[in-house]
Parts: sequence; structure tokens; C-alpha cells
Amino acid sequence: MLSVESVVKSFGGFKAVDEANLRVNAGEIVAVIGPNGAGKTTLFHLLTGHLTPDSGRILFKGKEIGGLSPHVICRRGITRSFQVVNIFPRLSVFENVQIAVLSRERKTFRIFSPVEGMAEEEVHRTLRSVGLFDQRDVESDLLSHGDKKVLEIAVALSGNPELLILDEPTAGMAPEETERCIRLIRKLSRESGLTILFCEHDIALVFEIANRIMVMVRGATVVQGSGEEVRRNSEVRSAYLGESGEC
Ligand code: ADP
Ligand code: MG
Repeated sequence: MLSVESVVKSFGGFKAVDEANLRVNAGEIVAVIGPNGAGKTTLFHLLTGHLTPDSGRILFKGKEIGGLSPHVICRRGITRSFQVVNIFPRLSVFENVQIAVLSRERKTFRIFSPVEGMAEEEVHRTLRSVGLFDQRDVESDLLSHGDKKVLEIAVALSGNPELLILDEPTAGMAPEETERCIRLIRKLSRESGLTILFCEHDIALVFEIANRIMVMVRGATVVQGSGEEVRRNSEVRSAYLGESGEC
């Protein structure tokens, strides 16, 4: 589904992504791990059009997407959540998802039609699938941190993606919120057949839910493989797993 080949991205003279390689097959849950500053978020920005690669290829379903704009990439089937919570705080849970659904359908600017009940069925379905239905009328800012992150996932799902990219989905979550988020990721993969690419600092969690793992150090791919293959890799052990475990 996704193939990243020798992708490079520099800021000034600094190569934040330096020969990254990544393969994601349809239906897989793939994790990117690596120390802080390894280039994970930058790589995700490149995959979703928020940044343009300097060189290398990014193929999604066989077609080059490197350098396309975010909305074009979104229409092709990739959506994402951000490392920092990115929702409209004053709008309700329902409205946040509704805006995402309507913008996918390009209906937001039909200003003379009442927006209130629009897309209600789909919004409700999405909120049920992530477990936020009961909180649909709550102002988003009043949600717990964990629920805000889950709302972000709901917003991303509203784009009807084939590939969902999550940047540190459990960052800042309490243990029980993390547990719930893991169950959600698994459920989305299992029930909707969604392909999921995520980056996460909790290594135990990564080994628990990822089918395959890519390890990134200083912008480059060190190894990509099953949990067992990654664990066995000596470069990973010295460069990363032996360290503090921070992402
Ligand atoms: P990670 O998500 O793995 O922690 P990032 O992709 O956020 O890493 O950052 C990789 C490196 O690139 C870091 O050293 C960061 O400071 C640098 N970087 C990221 N974005 C920019 C930018 N817009 N301008 C300059 N440097 C950046
Ligand atoms: Mg990051």
C-alpha cells in the first residue's frame, strides 16, 4: 500500500529525514519507533503532504504522492492525527466530526443550507465506533486528554481513509486511557480492515500491537521487520533499546 524509498528532508543543512525506507502492506499495523528527534513526525509530514521531500520516492498504491498537497493526499486515502491535539476546542464532539465529514464531501461552504443535522447518521456511526457517542454534545475542550486524542482519531476516520497515520496516539494518556486507545486501534484494524501506521514512545505497547516495526535513528531507517527481527538487531539494541526507552 505504501512504499517509502530513500526519502530525504533537510531543514537548512540539517537532514531530519535521511534515507528513510518504509513499507506498509494493506491491513497491517506498522509502528515507527526511534529516539526523540529521530525524524518520525517529519516523516509523517512527508507522507501527508505537510512537507515536500528533497529526494526519494513515496508511493501510495503504486502512485507517487511525494510533494502533493495534504487535501489531495487525503482524497487518495491517507489521513492522520497530529502529535499535538488538533481539534476545535469550542465546538462539540459531534460538530468536530461533522465538519470533517462535510469537508470531505465539500459541503462546508454551502452557507445557505442549515448545517445542523447534516451527515448526522455518519457522524453518529463514527462516534459509536470510537466510543464517544455518549459525549457527542460535550464541548470538546471539556473532554479528558485521552478523549481528545480519541476525538482526533474520529476526525481522521471521517476522511474515510485506507491508511490511518497516528503520531503518538497515546502521548500523555493515563494507563487506562492508553489501554482503551490500544483496544480502539486493534478494533479499527480488525473490524474496518484499516491499515494503520503509528509512532509511539511506549515500546511495550508497540511490540504488543504492531505487525511490523520500523526503527528510525537520526533520520535513517535502521531496520524494519517483525518484533522478533527488530529485537535481534544488534544496531537497534545498542542505538535504541538499551537506552531509556523514550521515543
Ligand atoms: P521525532 O518526531 O522523531 O521526535 P521530528 O521529526 O519532530 O522528530 O524532528 C526531527 C529533527 O528535525 C529534530 O532535530 C527537529 O528539531 C528537526 N526539525 C523538525 N521540524 C523542523 C523544522 N520545521 N525546522 C527545522 N528543524 C526541524
Ligand atoms: Mg514526533
